[in-house]
Amino acid sequence: MRHAGHFQPLPPAHAWFILGPVSALLVVGAHAADFVWRAAGAIALHTAAGGRAAVVALSYGERGESGDLWKEPGQTVEKVKRMRHEECTRAAAAVGAEFVPFDLGDYPLEVPAAALERLVALMRELQPEILVTHTPVDPFNPDHPVAFTAADRARKLAMGAAGVASAFKTIKPPRLYLFEPHHPEQCGFQPNTFVDYTAVADRKEAAMAAMAAQSYLRDHYRERGAQRAVQARYFGAGPETKLAEAFQLTTPRLTSGL
Ligand SMILES: [Zn+2]
Repeated sequence: MRHAGHFQPLPPAHAWFILGPVSALLVVGAHAADFVWRAAGAIALHTAAGGRAAVVALSYGERGESGDLWKEPGQTVEKVKRMRHEECTRAAAAVGAEFVPFDLGDYPLEVPAAALERLVALMRELQPEILVTHTPVDPFNPDHPVAFTAADRARKLAMGAAGVASAFKTIKPPRLYLFEPHHPEQCGFQPNTFVDYTAVADRKEAAMAAMAAQSYLRDHYRERGAQRAVQARYFGAGPETKLAEAFQLTTPRLTSGL
């Protein structure tokens, strides 16, 4: 693991997404590119502010989510996986994150005990304050809920029981966010956190541009970002907020006052 600190800090005007100085953010995605569309802006903000970020891809999405690559005659799973690895490593680097592929296969994604244990070990090492993953329900995708279950289970295994002594090393409970699914309403997505990523829009664009296999999603998620920004402005964001990503925080927040 390396610290991703090569981006300049953002000016305070963009600090309504407040971070600790060295906090770690972990994204767990079912497929290699899931983080790009749904959370690349928030990741870029996090690393630009001096935080550390890692992106776990439980699979490369080689069979079910590599659309354009399968238009090539004579294409193979191994070749697609190699290309997805290169694309996603570049996309993660564009937002200052480390790409951690688990290569478990997709459509269907299965998470065996050894992979779950690897995810728990990663959480113990990284000690993320922020964990981001899929919604637990997705009527259109066979793998996204599997990734949620693995991420959530690993989180609980890494946390142990409420800070009491245990037979293993435990981590402080991370805040658990769900990132925006492709079909938010059908997935029961209830966003309660909007992240203004206008200041790092070029980094998300660079991450999306790295994903040649799914070029058809770029315009869609750029437009979604503009729509979420309109909503964020209703909640008090200023006119300078042009692009936002929506998340659902599922864990209670601890505050010293309202
Ligand atoms: Zn996916």
